[in-house]
Amino acid sequence: MHVVHLAAEALPYVKVGGLADVLGSLPRALAAEGVRATVVLPRYRAIARALEPLGEVRYRFAGAERTARVWGDEAGGVQYRFLEVDPDWDAPYAPPEAERYLRFNLAVVAWLEGQAHDLVHAHDWHAAYAVRRAARPAVFTIHNLAFQGVLEPEAFARLTGEAPDAELLEGGRVNLMKGAILAARWVTTVSPRYAREIQTPEFGIGLEEVLRSVAPRLRGVLNGLDMDAWNPATDPHLPQRYDADHLERKRRNRVALLAVLRLDPGLPAVGAVTRLTWQKGFDLVLEVLPRILDLGVNFVLLGTGEAELERGFAEMARRYPRRVAFRAAFDEVRAHRIYGGADYFLMPSRYEPCGLAQMIAMRYGTPPIARATGGLADTVEDGVTGVLFEEASGEGVLAGVRRMLELEAEPLARAGMTRDFSWGPRAREYVRLYEEALR
Ligand code: ADP
Repeated sequence: MHVVHLAAEALPYVKVGGLADVLGSLPRALAAEGVRATVVLPRYRAIARALEPLGEVRYRFAGAERTARVWGDEAGGVQYRFLEVDPDWDAPYAPPEAERYLRFNLAVVAWLEGQAHDLVHAHDWHAAYAVRRAARPAVFTIHNLAFQGVLEPEAFARLTGEAPDAELLEGGRVNLMKGAILAARWVTTVSPRYAREIQTPEFGIGLEEVLRSVAPRLRGVLNGLDMDAWNPATDPHLPQRYDADHLERKRRNRVALLAVLRLDPGLPAVGAVTRLTWQKGFDLVLEVLPRILDLGVNFVLLGTGEAELERGFAEMARRYPRRVAFRAAFDEVRAHRIYGGADYFLMPSRYEPCGLAQMIAMRYGTPPIARATGGLADTVEDGVTGVLFEEASGEGVLAGVRRMLELEAEPLARAGMTRDFSWGPRAREYVRLYEEALR
């Protein structure tokens, strides 16, 4: 079976968030299950790796014949293809987004015509249009329902040459995600709980009825972790490596982290690694941060995003230089050192389709304090591997931290480290869906 994955980002080429982790590890896990995997991405300028030129593909876009250069690479038994539809396209999600990803999808559909393959697996709205146009059956995975690929019908018709039909229209505008949900053989999302949540008005972001209408072919499949990339026993970024049998060694990472950040060495650290957006709930943390500090902890945050949140946390770091450290950057090394050095990991998401960070934290023996939603509720066992709190509010966050501090952390850390977050069983679930889709 040969499955072609379509997505906007994938490790080791380009990463903005968890989607890149998934596309960097799921195809390899599928290859291990005997499924041939190809991953197709736009060729962004930000991709620094040397790629092999593989010719070009012709496609139609905005009423004219176009040519996209095709590049290739191979890693971990997976084939990668990069379609260069716009040489000025720097990085994922750079505007004009809808136009650029539509163009990518049209090029993909033309390119697929010349490729032997059995199935298309499209990820998020950036690959949604290809689901409608693909000649082979398609599986569509929702990683984040908040972004749906919405554009005016006139613009859509001009760019694609297709008059939008009822399947594509939602509230008078073209909604690419809706089109893919209705056209795919299977719709999946990245945790069972989120699969249920998105069928309700609270989480459905306007597509709850569409999702309810496909409920028999809607599934939640948890994301797995790349257990090699995230392994405290071999992590090259940690001052001190450790495993569940030598958890006491982890303390040295805390000492090193707090020393570098000039935080109070006598207090435990609550860490976080995150995009700073409304989804992630860090505005709630900001509301109660002085009261969290009063509980006797340091706070270490690595994250970029909304300017107001970045300003807010920078201000807190100035006000509490011995207790709060904030770095507004994307920093892989710092991320590893927080997972390996913090005592607890905070994830107060308003919604969370799956979430990888909490699984990484558990793998590193750093119990998560997480909101009871989506994939967080499916992966964190309250009082066993971490703490789940219900309320999306400053008080909720505070209650979560307080409760964690009342528990004995070590058994939670140990339990988290023994959980299996590997792709194996989850990849096998995808294989079963692929087989059903082909039947
Ligand atoms: P999302 O995909 O919504 O951003 P996930 O928890 O699924 O959230 O995945 C986030 C991934 O991105 C994790 O691997 C996390 O470590 C990483 N990450 C997020 N922000 C940063 C950052 N500022 N620096 C380094 N890694 C980050």
